[in-house]
Amino acid sequence: MSSQPRHPADAFRHCPRCASSELDIAPQGRDCRCRACGFQFFFNCAAATAAFIFHHGQLILTVRAKDPAKGALDLPGGFLDFGETVEEGLRREIFEELGIETTDYRYLTSAPNDYLYAGVLYKTADVYFVCRAPQISGIRARDDVADFKLMAPGDVDPARLAFESSRRAFRVLLESLGPFVMPFVEKN
Ligand SMILES: [Zn+2]
Repeated sequence: MSSQPRHPADAFRHCPRCASSELDIAPQGRDCRCRACGFQFFFNCAAATAAFIFHHGQLILTVRAKDPAKGALDLPGGFLDFGETVEEGLRREIFEELGIETTDYRYLTSAPNDYLYAGVLYKTADVYFVCRAPQISGIRARDDVADFKLMAPGDVDPARLAFESSRRAFRVLLESLGPFVMPFVEKN
């Protein structure tokens, strides 16, 4: 890959069906079409989800073990598997990353994101929830997480969060620190 991709189509050079190079891709288009065989492929948004997990008034944040944004603070979560609800995918991702169970999911907000992995740009729709981890005695970092941190929401520097979508969601969380989120922040 000679330069940073700016569109998912930048990973495509030939038709995946017939290997023709006669692929029509509009510069910021949503799909590509093969003039040789008629194959058409849509560059759909990938659904991803993340959570502001509260435990006794503190947020549980992770430290990314891998690029993109290796070493940055992040929210537990990830891409949905086929056939999952957003909540099922989020519960699975949190358990895979931290080994804890989470409850009381409430939708917070959503934001678009660009996720560059192995030279391919994925356009995502990130869906954010607030939830609770009642019991974290078995917590440990694993999977694509290097470490975890418990922090009061007011102590989190948004600039240290890995993605613009998460920084945006964090602003929504702080603005929501009223009746909606306060039950999660209250101590014990
Ligand atoms: Zn083709």
